[in-house]
Amino acid sequence: MKDGRDVVRIVGAGPSGALLAILLQRQGLRVELYDARPDPRSVREASGRSINLALADRGIHALRAAGVFEQIASALMPMRGRCVHAADGTTSLQPYGRRPQEVIYSISRLRLSQALLRVAARSPGISMHFNHRLEDVSFAERHATVRDLASGNLLQLPMQPLLACDGAGSRVRHRMAELGHIEVREAGLDHGYKELSIPADADGRHRLDPQALHIWPRGDHMLIALPNDDGSFTATLFLPMHGAVSFAALGDSAGVEGFLRANFGDVVESMPDRLAEFATHPVGGLGTVYAAGWHAAGAVLIGDAAHAIVPFHGQGMNCCFEDCIDFAARIPRHTSWEVLFADFYAARKPNTDAIAAMALENYLEMRARVAEPRFQLQQSLALELYNRHPRRFIPRYAMVMFHHEICYLTAQRRGAVQSRLLEDLTRGANSLTEVDFARAARQIERELAPLTPEA
Ligand SMILES: Cc1cc2nc3c(=O)[nH]c(=O)nc-3n(C[C@H](O)[C@H](O)[C@H](O)COP(=O)(O)OP(=O)(O)OC[C@H]3O[C@@H](n4cnc5c(N)ncnc54)[C@H](O)[C@@H]3O)c2cc1C
Repeated sequence: MKDGRDVVRIVGAGPSGALLAILLQRQGLRVELYDARPDPRSVREASGRSINLALADRGIHALRAAGVFEQIASALMPMRGRCVHAADGTTSLQPYGRRPQEVIYSISRLRLSQALLRVAARSPGISMHFNHRLEDVSFAERHATVRDLASGNLLQLPMQPLLACDGAGSRVRHRMAELGHIEVREAGLDHGYKELSIPADADGRHRLDPQALHIWPRGDHMLIALPNDDGSFTATLFLPMHGAVSFAALGDSAGVEGFLRANFGDVVESMPDRLAEFATHPVGGLGTVYAAGWHAAGAVLIGDAAHAIVPFHGQGMNCCFEDCIDFAARIPRHTSWEVLFADFYAARKPNTDAIAAMALENYLEMRARVAEPRFQLQQSLALELYNRHPRRFIPRYAMVMFHHEICYLTAQRRGAVQSRLLEDLTRGANSLTEVDFARAARQIERELAPLTPEA
């Protein structure tokens, strides 16, 4: 870069900042990484207290590129499909794909973070500064002010450049918006979440199938559970904030207990700490950040800071990792940070908008549609068509989760065509035997060009 190449400052050492630091160091850059929190490498995870994430192909591809995947591979819990728990207590497994590699993985957020930071710490040229909080940004003077929380001292960092990976509540984004450099819309969802735990049984084993993501769809709300490698599950309750059935309406512990028993009767006894957790765990907010413009005078937003999304596709972090790969790949092609920032935004924005929309759609799918026979038939048909036409008909979920080489925007556009075909082909049908596969083949040939080499 002609406009200041040697030291890159990254604010935020979460998944985006930590991965980006490693990828940039590999491009020969020196990196200073700042985070307001204490160093997560010194934190020990209490058994059964893990907060986990779904990791899919886009994230794995990025972690491999950074040499981090091998460090976490042994801690991954493969999930082969959704195990849907109906209100009457019956369960059914809806597979995510047809091929052995078409699985997603549950991983402890803390362990992933620790692995990223350990690799970063071993990389010469990366210096890490925890307990350092970014307080302000001056775009006119091109510096950021960071407070060392241990000493209280203020540091001024030149923005040559400043990469803001400071998450959904990004201070840098707020300053860019306040000063009119970018336009931001934060669309909150009127649903929140609360994390609960399903500890291992007395023999240390999982109480539910550990190879599935469990869902209790209940129309306007749902419970999900992802496995951990210590025999426990982390469950998350998603519920409206206000209204007749909502966090606000639950009331005291008797109200909570009654709600859990009425809605999730088959698992409630497997959550012995439910009432204590309900009382102490906060209700988290959810929403989507839409920012028109991600950069201003030497600073750029990356990851959740630029485009936080709702968690219902399990893609937020995967998408952030894809940002990092894209950003790092542009470094050798540019001599100016400003031009790089503009190109990065132009390439990523349509894709992050696409996954933001698909993530919102997936909430309805998870909390309601998975329980509908018609949706289940369409899912089975989608997998069958994928089998028969693997280069043309790849279910949207598979495009998003298992094919990093297919961008989000393409997945969204082809997904819309496929959804119309599925509607059309299942009209009046009750099972796959009633589907006209010859007509399906003709429509697919006509409407869906071949996409990837046959697997
Ligand atoms: C309930 C829930 C479930 C989710 N499940 C999944 C999932 O299954 N799969 C998936 O891919 N994604 C999931 N996500 C999304 C995922 O958590 C985020 O996309 C991801 O953490 C974003 O990474 P980030 O590094 O951009 O931001 P963050 O993880 O928010 O990290 C930001 C970092 O910046 C630091 N920071 C913030 N402000 C400052 C400041 N002023 N100064 C210095 N440092 C600062 C913070 O301390 C933090 O370390 C989920 C999100 C939620 C809420």
